[in-house]
Amino acid sequence: MKRVPAKLVLASGNRGKLAEMDAILADLGIELVAQGELGIDDIDETGLTFVENALLKARHAARASGLPALGDDSGLCVDALGGAPGLYSARYAGTHGDAAANIAKLLDALREVPDEDRSAHFHCTIVLLRSPDDPSPVIAEGRWHGRILRAPRGTNGFGYDPAFFDDTLGAGAAELDAATKNRVSHRGVALARLRELLQR
Ligand code: IMP
Repeated sequence: MKRVPAKLVLASGNRGKLAEMDAILADLGIELVAQGELGIDDIDETGLTFVENALLKARHAARASGLPALGDDSGLCVDALGGAPGLYSARYAGTHGDAAANIAKLLDALREVPDEDRSAHFHCTIVLLRSPDDPSPVIAEGRWHGRILRAPRGTNGFGYDPAFFDDTLGAGAAELDAATKNRVSHRGVALARLRELLQR
């Protein structure tokens, strides 16, 4: 087994992510600490790819904490929009994290797009840096394929979930319970992959 550091700082202020990651990594003997608990702030996501942003976040947290760090970045990529909103998913409509405005803008942009051309996927990249200068980070990625609905559906989840439909499950992302979403989602798949890489 690869030597897994026992205590990791998570380069995110999102409590939901911490709980999700903790549940998947706990039995590997890993203790996750949120960067906020150590007084570490978010940094600007200035990268041009998901992996660059995940590395920027992890490097910042590793440097500030002196601990190994996990960083992640995710977003929704819509084929008919050339991959947008992509990296800019959280601030698509202007204000960071305004999910209702982001969904309204997305549905409007796709108003004339027929059902067969509304394919999209969520992407998630998670990286582990053992130190700020680690030259070979562990990198795990996951994708969740589906399509964009014509109107929001469901009340679970967060972000773009009410606009996203999984044809394999025959359900909207915001209609899934947390356990089902974690099994099939981009973040769930990336975390499972990370776990596999750490166990090798
Ligand atoms: P970040 O990875 O925290 O930077 O999040 C990027 C943005 O992508 C979020 O603010 C959401 O708008 C969107 N996003 C990422 N994952 C999901 C998901 O599982 N459901 C819905 N929206 C998501």
